[in-house]
Amino acid sequence: MALKKAETVVVGAGIAGVMTALSLLRRGCSVNLVDRWAPGHGRASSSDYTRLIRSIHGADEFYTRWVREARLRWMELQAELGTTLLVECGALVMAGEGHTAWEDSTLPTFDKLGVPYHKFSVDELRVRFPQFNYPDVAYGIYEPEAGALMAKRAVVQTAELFRREGGTITRGRVTTDEREQLQLDGKPLEADMIAVTTGPWLGEMYRRTISPIAKIVRQNIIYTSTPDGDPSYDSERMPCWIDHGYGAYGAPSIEGSGVKAAIAWTEAIIDLDNDERVVDEATFNRTRQYLNHRMKGLVGQRAVDQKACQIAMTPDTHFILDFHPEHENVLLVGGCSGHLFKHGPVFGDFVAGVGLREYGTPDRFKLGSRGKLTAGASPSGR
Ligand SMILES: Cc1cc2nc3c(=O)[nH]c(=O)nc-3n(C[C@H](O)[C@H](O)[C@H](O)COP(=O)(O)OP(=O)(O)OC[C@H]3O[C@@H](n4cnc5c(N)ncnc54)[C@H](O)[C@@H]3O)c2cc1C
Repeated sequence: MALKKAETVVVGAGIAGVMTALSLLRRGCSVNLVDRWAPGHGRASSSDYTRLIRSIHGADEFYTRWVREARLRWMELQAELGTTLLVECGALVMAGEGHTAWEDSTLPTFDKLGVPYHKFSVDELRVRFPQFNYPDVAYGIYEPEAGALMAKRAVVQTAELFRREGGTITRGRVTTDEREQLQLDGKPLEADMIAVTTGPWLGEMYRRTISPIAKIVRQNIIYTSTPDGDPSYDSERMPCWIDHGYGAYGAPSIEGSGVKAAIAWTEAIIDLDNDERVVDEATFNRTRQYLNHRMKGLVGQRAVDQKACQIAMTPDTHFILDFHPEHENVLLVGGCSGHLFKHGPVFGDFVAGVGLREYGTPDRFKLGSRGKLTAGASPSGR
């Protein structure tokens, strides 16, 4: 079935939705992008200042290739928009002593696919990146062509680009009935193809189909001030980092944001619509403890910003991209597992092609039972 010039609807205007909508539009479809709030709003997973882009995915060549392609597409998009979306400050992955399986399995993947990197010993790390302390680190992988994406800006400006090119943006809440059929304003939502890209909300819309394979996990972030008059923690001098052993990651200060640090806590829950979006005391304490361990130069500095957010985790950390088993024009898109943003332009384009039945969806994205992978095989190392 050829669906070019099709009438399409995209539900959800986070990064997955805006990129899918733009791609459908540029394939000649008419597109209505529907969201409960304005693109870039504070509850969405895509709404923070920044998201990391880095190729490291263990042995997984699929996502590694996608990131390499996405990097180029982000550059094209920022040139088209005339704004900074990609801050190429590099990314440092610290392989923690005693659990280096993910990092070890990344190096052959990088070699095979030609991803530029440097493997640094701890002595070299101390010289190259003195902002960090390395008491428990075995080695580091530095990826110079990695960095940070200006997340909220990318969503807002891509939505605006979509509108300028003729797309429609509608404010409204799409619901599902007991048969998981879509409705807007109490009427059935109809189109040749509907992509539902509601991110963490996908599970509550599809309790039968999605909830069992996507667990919502709260993620809290603190931005800490850089020392007065000291540029060493700015993106010109410091990379993003993934502290896999500690379950932490972060970004340097970009546009004066302060140093971003998140300590992943996989059991934290969140009420998507009703919780206050402010971080709790425990997050402050954990972040301070972490900075004391890893960045002694920031001890005593104050928090200058914060973000309470969430991800939808699948057991194998692969995304979800498949047609609804009973509604053949409804494409379910989500299961971000904490790593979808960086793929944005490639992912949205791929979703559009699947939605228009130009090609099928890979097995890894299909609905159905999923299991946890080993650290070496998992794209996220989790
Ligand atoms: C703290 C944190 C750090 C992260 N770090 C990284 C990183 O470094 N790199 C990376 O690549 N990824 C990262 N991620 C993951 C990344 O942010 C997400 O994968 C991505 O933003 C998901 O985008 P989305 O469009 O699927 O969802 P969202 O951005 O949440 O968008 C969903 C949209 O759907 C709308 N919606 C929901 N329900 C309805 C409804 N019923 N009707 C209409 N509209 C609806 C919502 O209002 C929302 O706008 C991180 C996530 C978090 C939380």
